[in-house]
Amino acid sequence: MEAAEVSNEKGIYQFQLFSSYPVVAGYSDRTFDMRFLEDQLPVPGSNDRELFCQGLQIPAADLVTPEQIHSGNIILVSEEMKGRGAFRRDNAVARSDGMIVKEKGIPLGVQTADCASVILYDPQKHAAGIAHVGWRGLYAGLPGKMVAAFTNNFLCRPKDIRVGLGPMIRKCCYEVGWEMASHFAGCVVTKKGKNHLDLSRAIVADLHAMGVPKNHVEDCGVCTSCQNDRFYSYRREGNLTGRMLSVIMLR
Ligand SMILES: [Zn+2]
Repeated sequence: MEAAEVSNEKGIYQFQLFSSYPVVAGYSDRTFDMRFLEDQLPVPGSNDRELFCQGLQIPAADLVTPEQIHSGNIILVSEEMKGRGAFRRDNAVARSDGMIVKEKGIPLGVQTADCASVILYDPQKHAAGIAHVGWRGLYAGLPGKMVAAFTNNFLCRPKDIRVGLGPMIRKCCYEVGWEMASHFAGCVVTKKGKNHLDLSRAIVADLHAMGVPKNHVEDCGVCTSCQNDRFYSYRREGNLTGRMLSVIMLR
C-alpha cells in the first residue's frame, strides 16, 4: 500500500497510519532535492527542504538530521539540537543513522535514495524516531535497536509502536552478493540466478523480533528503482543523484 499523497502539495506524502495521532510524518519524491547544501553539486543552494517542510507545516530551520554513515548508531535528540543538519552536512548530527525524540516540535529527518527510511511512533508515550537503513544498517541491527532505544529511553512497550516505511529499493531490483544473501537468507529471493534482498521484509522481521506487531507497520510499497521516474535511486543513477527526505515531528 502506498501512503496517500497530500492534496494540493505535489511531491509530499503522508502516512495514513499516523493520521489519527498528534504527529506529522511523511516523505518526498523527485519534486524536491533534499541533499545537504554542500552535496548539491555543481550548483548548491536549493531551498527544497524549506518548501517541503512548509507543505507539512514543519519548521524547516529546526529540522535535525544525522550525518548518515550506514551505522547502527542512534542519538537521543533534545531541544538544544534543533537545526543540526537542517540544511548543511557540516553541522549534522555526527556519526549516526537513527534518532529518537520525546519533545514536541522538533522535526527529525533522514535522506534516502534506495536505502529505507524507518519512521517510528509510540502513541502511548508520545515518542518518535526515524532511521536510515540500508543493508549495512540492517546488518548492524538498526531497526531492532530503534525499538530498544524507545524501550530504554522512554519506557515504551514494543507492542505499542507504529512504524512507517518510506520508499526504498525492493526485492525486484536489489541484487546482492552471496555473502549478504546467506546472512539474510530468509529475506532473499532468487531471480535469474541472482540473489535479491527483500529489504522491507528484513526490516519488518527485525522490528517484529523486538516485539512490534506486523500489522503496526505501514509500508508505502514504492520501489525507488522501478519507479525511478518519481523517486531517486542511487543504484540506477549513481551518487550524484538527488535524495528524498523523510520526516517525523511530534505535535
Ligand atoms: Zn524494483
